[in-house]
Amino acid sequence: MDMQQMVQQLNKWAYEYYVLDNPSVADTVYDALYDQLVLLEKQTGIVLPDSPTHRVGGETLKEFSQHKHLKRLYSLDKVQSFGELSQWMEKVQKQLGNVQFSLELKYDGLTINVTYDQGKFVGAATRGKGIVGEDVTEQVKTIKTVPLSIPYTGLCEIQGEGIMKLSNLEKYNKKHPNDQLKNARNGVAGAIRNLNPKVTAERNLDVVFYSLGYSEGMQIGSQSQLVDFLKSCQMLTSNEFAVVETFEQAKAQIEKIGQMRPHFDFLIDGVVVKVNDFELREQLGYTDKFPKWAVAFKFDAEQVATTLLDVDWQVGRTGKLTPVGLLEPVELCGATIGRATLNNFGDITRKNLHKNALVFVRRSNDVIPEVLGSAEQGGVAIEKPTHCPACGSQLQEVGAHLFCTNAENCRPQIVARISHYCSKNACDIDGLSDKTVEQLVDCLGISSVADLYTLTTEQLLTLEGFKQRKANNIVSAIDKSKSVNLERFIFALGLDNVGSVTAKDLATKYGSVEALSQASKESLLEIDGIGEIVAEGIVQYFQEQQNVEIVQKLQNIGIDPQLSETKVGVFTGKKIVLTGSLQNYTRSQATKLIEENGGEVSSSVSKSVNLVIAGAEAGSKLAKAHALGIDVITEEQFQQMLEQN
Ligand SMILES: [Zn+2]
Repeated sequence: MDMQQMVQQLNKWAYEYYVLDNPSVADTVYDALYDQLVLLEKQTGIVLPDSPTHRVGGETLKEFSQHKHLKRLYSLDKVQSFGELSQWMEKVQKQLGNVQFSLELKYDGLTINVTYDQGKFVGAATRGKGIVGEDVTEQVKTIKTVPLSIPYTGLCEIQGEGIMKLSNLEKYNKKHPNDQLKNARNGVAGAIRNLNPKVTAERNLDVVFYSLGYSEGMQIGSQSQLVDFLKSCQMLTSNEFAVVETFEQAKAQIEKIGQMRPHFDFLIDGVVVKVNDFELREQLGYTDKFPKWAVAFKFDAEQVATTLLDVDWQVGRTGKLTPVGLLEPVELCGATIGRATLNNFGDITRKNLHKNALVFVRRSNDVIPEVLGSAEQGGVAIEKPTHCPACGSQLQEVGAHLFCTNAENCRPQIVARISHYCSKNACDIDGLSDKTVEQLVDCLGISSVADLYTLTTEQLLTLEGFKQRKANNIVSAIDKSKSVNLERFIFALGLDNVGSVTAKDLATKYGSVEALSQASKESLLEIDGIGEIVAEGIVQYFQEQQNVEIVQKLQNIGIDPQLSETKVGVFTGKKIVLTGSLQNYTRSQATKLIEENGGEVSSSVSKSVNLVIAGAEAGSKLAKAHALGIDVITEEQFQQMLEQN
């Protein structure tokens, strides 16, 4: 394979992985060829313009230079209600007659303008004020969903929105417990407008393309054709795209998107409605700020003011206290909000928050409401607690946080540790909801995860709401958890800052709990993604007597977790959900086949699921899969995949 072929092959695999979300080879195969290319580039001193080695990010820049856009970038006029949208569409129809409108998602990130010439990526710039922007070529070059070459060979500028997927934000924040990004929007802006391109590379951004600014003789007549062209350039385009003719159709599409919005893996703040045909657009023209042929339909206002009534200090698994603001209930993004996080005491001081005073509340990432700041002077000061609200122990202050160190006897800590141990990604013990765990702790005197294994059906039957069947199921689910694998077990122990990804890395490196408990800080730091704080936390965990005792007790019960063998096959690395009834397999047969071919079966549909196999009469899981854009296959296709294997 020559250098050109290697680059093409790697770019094809990267396209399948990042844009199509459908990799055809394992990461290790990609890495091996990538390493070969790096070596060859070193030996020959030649680096092709579209080589993926450009993606790592070059030297830190001294300053941003300026880029004059080949054609001005306009911002969009906004409409805030269906009434306003209907008026705008009517006005357009009055001038142009019956026309088609295209609808696409309005991604919430940072607009960038990418220049291609002779089929190669030659530059990128921020929007700026529309005429001149900052040159961010080196930064944008690291974004894997921006192709470094495209089939079109004329000079052109294409606009897109730089975004950070919420799943990538979560991963990043897990890896950087001390350098948390506040939200995806800040994550993008801070990464692209950063003089160090390596920072951009590390954030795993994406660019979703949607507009053609300048082009040299390109024959594209409408937004629909543009989307096809962008796809042929292997670019990401709007997840939802529709062409409609009436206001009713537009409204239905926008309402549908509004419902899907909480499930998207990225932020959107509205829907862009454009006249589809490019020639008709020119007939409408521009104001001095906006094109007259497009508007952004904005979803509900993002923040509201309401009264902060009180602060509830919640004690978590590790003893950390988190202040939660109790609010005068208020409508926000279609939901009633009565509570919002206040992060920590330092944050309360910094934001100058007071009880009985108005505060601004926002739904950050559109999921967890957050108090942004105070909206009026006055009110009652919020005092820093000195003792644990649950157990009365004196609190310890570590950095910006307060901790209750009475791990053994503080009820909320005990409940949270046991709940965490039973949770889906940990030991996955069915039937032990947080409520049930509270019952076990309060009524049966359970105080550690090891005590779970002593529970009998007779004991459970004394609890309110328990019948024979439920009690039996729980006892057998607890018993089944004894065969938990090592990565889940490490996660289940609930070490500070150790999520499932880190737990898996630890399991792979050390192979047993004993080896992990002996690991030195230096050895832990060798793992990619583990920093000082995480490493220190792990070492400290195994130095504490009560933790060593729990692990010992669990081992005495017969829990001997092993590293799970990774099976390789057609479903390797895929999380799969089965739904509906299959004709040729029982559920457990299908599950076994998936696992034997490297896949993992999940019981519920979420963003982390890669594939749904839908049998006859599939219901809500199938609908949710469609809403999340997850691939769905039939039983026949499932069978074909197994046969191909
Ligand atoms: Zn306490």
